[in-house]
Amino acid sequence: MKAILQYGPNDLRYEDIPYPECEPGGLILKVVAIGLCGSDIRNLTTDSRPGHYPQIWGHEHAGIVHEVGPECTAFKVGDRVASIAGSPCGQCSECRAGNNNYCLNPMPYADRQGGFAQYMPIPAEYIRRGAIKHLPDDIPFEAFGVIEPLLSVNGSHDRMNINFRDTVVICGAGPLGVIHARNAKIRGAKKVIMTEISSKRLEDVERFGVDVKIDGSKVDQVQAVLDETGGRGADKIICANPSTISQQQSLLMAKPGGIICFFGGVAKGAMTEIDSNIIHYKGLTIFGQTGGTSLAYDTGFELVCSGRFKWDDIITATMPLCKISEAIARCKAGEEIKISLHPWEDENGNEIRE
Ligand SMILES: [Zn+2]
Ligand SMILES: [Zn+2]
Repeated sequence: MKAILQYGPNDLRYEDIPYPECEPGGLILKVVAIGLCGSDIRNLTTDSRPGHYPQIWGHEHAGIVHEVGPECTAFKVGDRVASIAGSPCGQCSECRAGNNNYCLNPMPYADRQGGFAQYMPIPAEYIRRGAIKHLPDDIPFEAFGVIEPLLSVNGSHDRMNINFRDTVVICGAGPLGVIHARNAKIRGAKKVIMTEISSKRLEDVERFGVDVKIDGSKVDQVQAVLDETGGRGADKIICANPSTISQQQSLLMAKPGGIICFFGGVAKGAMTEIDSNIIHYKGLTIFGQTGGTSLAYDTGFELVCSGRFKWDDIITATMPLCKISEAIARCKAGEEIKISLHPWEDENGNEIRE
C-alpha cells in the first residue's frame, strides 16, 4: 500500500509499505479522505520526530472499515467511520474529573501509524476507548477535516463561555480562525471581529459569520479593535495563529475583565514578551487550548452531522495524497483554507484500484 513517509523536515516520500496487521479486537481502516491540519504542516516541515523517522503522520482520517480482527464486535467491514487522535482511558482521575483531554494514560497518536496512507491499523484498545465513531451515510468523508478541529474550538468556547453578549475578536483568518468565527456565531456572539495580516486571507470571510474584518497589513489592529468597541476593548479574544506579536497585542484588545485564549502554538522556543501589569490592572484571564474533552468532540460531531455547522466551504480543495507537498505549499500561501487529501487517487486524480 502507498503512504507518505516523513524522513525529516520537508523530506516527504510517497512509498510502498506493507499492508498493516490487524490485531484481535482491532480493525483496518481504508482511509478515504484525510484533512491536512495546521499541526500536520508544522510536523511535516520541521524536525518533529528526531530519532523516530520514518514517521507517518495524519490524524483527521475518515474511511471504510476494510478488515476486522476477531473479537471486534462494534464494527463490521464496510462501516463508514472516523476516528479522533485523542483516546482517553475513562478510568484515571483526570478522566473521572471530566478533564479527559489530560488523561493520565493517553495513547499518543505519534507513536502509531497515522492516516496519510491507504490503510491504517486501529488498535483494539483504541476502539475500546470509544475513539472510533460511525459517520452518518449522508456526511461525506471530507467533512471530518472540519469535525476534528471543531473539537478544540468548542473546547475553548466552552471555557470562555461565548454567548450572546460577546464581542469576540479572532486573530488569524486561517482554517481555525474561520471555524472559530462560524462557531462563535452559532453560539450567539453579538459581534465577531477578525484580524489578519494577509489581505488575501481576509477576502470573503463574511461568509463565516465575520461582522468586521481588520487588515493588519493596512491599519493598526489594536486601535481598530478599540474603535469597534467604543474604546473599551472586546470581551473575548482568540489568537488563532502562531504569532507572539498577536499574543502581545491581544492584551491591548481586551476590555477589563476580558478573556483571552492562546489557541495557536508559536514556534518552539519563541518567547512572548508581555506587560503583566496589563493583566493585573485589567483583571484579564488568559488560557491556552489544545485539543478538548470528549464532550467538546461530540459537540462538533453533532453540529456538523445535524447540518447546523456548514463545513463544505471550509474544505476548499481535495487533492491526491501523493501531492501532499503541493497541498502544504498551497495552504501556506493562503490559496486554500483547508485541503482534504485522497489516498486512493493517483497524481492525475484517477482512482487507484485496490
Ligand atoms: Zn487536526
Ligand atoms: Zn484517563
